[in-house]
Formats: sequence, C-alpha cells, structure tokens
Amino acid sequence: MSQLNEEISSTPKVAFYTLGCKLNFSETSTIARSFQNDGYERVDFEETADIYVINTCSVTENADKQFKQIVKKALKTNPKAFVAAVGCYAQLKPEELAAVDGVDLVLGATEKFKLTEYIHQLEKKDHGEIHSCEIEDANFYVGSYSIGDRTRAFLKVQDGCDYKCTYCTIPLARGISRSDTLENVLKNAREIAAQGIQEIVLTGVNIGDYGKGEFGNKKHEHTFLELVQALDQIPGISRLRISSIEPNLLKNETIQFVAQSNAFVPHFHIPLQSGSNTILKKMKRRYLRELYQNRVEAIKSVMPHACIGVDVIVGFPGETDELFLETYHFLHSLNIAYLHVFTYSERENTEAALMEGVVPMDVRNKRSKMLRSLSVKKRRQFYESQLNTVRTVLFEGENKEGYIHGFTENYVKVKTPWNPELVNTLHTVQLTEIDQDGLMRMEFVNVEEAVN
Ligand code: SF4
Repeated sequence: MSQLNEEISSTPKVAFYTLGCKLNFSETSTIARSFQNDGYERVDFEETADIYVINTCSVTENADKQFKQIVKKALKTNPKAFVAAVGCYAQLKPEELAAVDGVDLVLGATEKFKLTEYIHQLEKKDHGEIHSCEIEDANFYVGSYSIGDRTRAFLKVQDGCDYKCTYCTIPLARGISRSDTLENVLKNAREIAAQGIQEIVLTGVNIGDYGKGEFGNKKHEHTFLELVQALDQIPGISRLRISSIEPNLLKNETIQFVAQSNAFVPHFHIPLQSGSNTILKKMKRRYLRELYQNRVEAIKSVMPHACIGVDVIVGFPGETDELFLETYHFLHSLNIAYLHVFTYSERENTEAALMEGVVPMDVRNKRSKMLRSLSVKKRRQFYESQLNTVRTVLFEGENKEGYIHGFTENYVKVKTPWNPELVNTLHTVQLTEIDQDGLMRMEFVNVEEAVN
C-alpha cells in the first residue's frame, strides 16, 4: 500500500482550486467526478482534505506566484496532504511547478484525466513527480461540463486551437482543435437539463471551430451552426449562451438563427484584441477591424437589444500612442456593451515576445485604465438603453448582503431583495432604475410573480 493510502482517512477527501477560464472549471468538474466515483468525498478548498488538486492557467498574470500561494494555503490546512497540479501551466512549465515546495504530482495535458490512477501509486517525495506529454499527443477529446451556482452549467464542446495568434500559448498548452461529437454534446445537455439547470453556457478554446476533429479526424463533421440548431431542440433548457466566439467564425446564418431561437440568448462575446489593423496583422488575427464592425452591425440589425462584449489587449509590441487611439476610437464608435481588457504580457515561446516596439509597463497600465473606464461608460449606456424594457431574469443562488442577483437574457445584471424562492427561477420583469452599484433594479411584471 502506498504511503498516500496509509495516511488518508477512511473516506478520503479531495479539494479543488481552479484558475482561469470556464473550460478549466468544466474540466475540474470532470476530474472531481472521477474522484467521487472512486469513493472520495469532495470538500471545499478551505477545508481539510487528503488531496488538493490545483487546475492551473497559463494566461493568469503572475501564475507562478499565485500557484505557490495556493499550495501554501492547502498545506497550512493539512501539512500532510498531497498536492497535484494539472492544467495549462502544468503542461507548459512542469519543472517549475514540480519544484514548488509541497507539490507531489504534476500532470500534463494528456494525463490530467487519469489523475485518480496516479494518486493510487503516489508516495510523498521531496520533489514533485512529473508526467508530462508532448502537446502533439493531446489529440483526443474528453467531454466535460460543470454546474456552477445551481443555475447555469458550462458545457465543453471543443478543445485546443489551430490558429497561430502571435501572443498566445494556448495551442502549446492545449493542442490542436478538436471537438466533442454532436451526440455526446446532446447527451451532456440532456443530463444537465435533468438536474433542473436552466442555463447552459457553451465553452471551448475556439468554439466557432466546432466540428473539427470530431471522430478523431481533422475533417469537419458538423458545423457550429448545426451544433447550435441541435442544442436548441433539447427540452428542459430555458437558455443557451454561446459565450466567446471568434468574429471570423460568427457567420450570418448563426446570427439569424439566434435571432429567432427560443433558447439561444442575444448575448455575444467576441474577441477583438485590437482596433488597429496594423496590430491585428502583427497578432496574426484572422480578420480586420472592418469585419468586426460588420459582425456587430449584423447582430444589432436583427437583435437591437443584443449585448455584445469585447476582449481587447493593450500594450502589444508596436502599439504606438496613435495605434492605441485607433483602438480607443474604434471601440468608442461600436455599439457594444462592455469590454474585457487584458494588459499584454510577454509569454515564453511566442512570436510576439521577440517583437520590437516593446511598450513600457506604465504605458500599458495607463492604456488599460483608459479602456476600463470606457467599458464602464459603454455598460452604463447599454443599461440606459434597456430602461423600461421588459425582460426575463434568471435568478442566481447567493444571498448578497440581503439581495439576490440575476441576469436578463441580454446579460443585464439585475438586483432585488433576497428571496430564496426566486433562486433558479425565471421571471418576467421590467427594468426600472440603475442603482449606485451600476446594477439594474426591477419590478415583476405580473403581480403573482412578485413572490414578496
Ligand atoms: S484563436 Fe488565437 S488567441 Fe484564441 S486560443 Fe487560438 S491562438 Fe490563442
């Protein structure tokens, strides 16, 4: 019997910490379910566990520092616990993670779903054991979904990316683009519906590329539109959200379909990254700003109330003041609702890290601040445009200082006094006022719906 098995309690406990994107969250859930099937009890990360699993992200700034703090936190709760690291950072920098004090196991992209097998064979050592892989081997697909706060689930439909954006390490950490089979996605969606979850958010690295790699080959078996159409037919799911999709892969047919669909909501998150064509080319993005503008207009022409969110990177090499202002003015002119602003940071093994025209950190930070305040203005304008409209709200599960929050179909965040009966229910409301927190206040449209 391994040292681990001798030391752990009769019902071993496992805790998880997830960094990064929704995809990581859905994969953590899948790994957690494999532990539960093996007789482990899942506990919160703050509680005493026998095994702590950290699902890492390479996009997070100061990823190494953050990782060390999380390991420390785990070992403070239980100094004898085993600590395992999986995820993108574990694939990219296994040696670095294995050298952190207290880390026992580091698993790469192909190995992470076999964590329970490794745990059985594990013995606590001075240095973390590494089972990594060449990223070319990460060419198989593992389906996942996670249930967030009892109201929505993140359903993984695709993994990896074949694009070569010059700043990005995701293809190195996650491998080539590959997709779940349509059949399996639909099966997962039905399982989620059977648990009473009202909303599904589709996740992946590049979900517009859905269909590639299905059945283990590189041929497109199904298109993203076919996926969307098939999911729309699943009974019991009130809402489906596309989340993030590359502008060049968001086709008119998909926009038209969403506009008339019952379940797909009018909310799109579309990475722009830069509003300057010069920078877009240096980034090796697959579109120019004209295409982006055209996509926004296409959405708004059929869904004027649609919420459009934008990812943007500031401080990319070669971004002069002038080129940054091109981005600023472009975003200012677009009919969008919010921005997610990322400050460019150099990543090893990327083309961009070797480019000239490095932007000083203080300039990057200043630009980031400018775009963040533009985002606040854009959100405010969007919320104002929604005042007095009638929408549907799905209420979430938490009591936030006496209030319950929820989102409309077009992603307006709504707030009303806490009432547990509202949790995970959909209500028709009128949007009445923007409060000092910038959240929307509301009134129930039908008197009988006002549970209070
Ligand atoms: S589309 Fe570009 S930024 Fe997105 S994952 Fe692929 S390479 Fe990275």
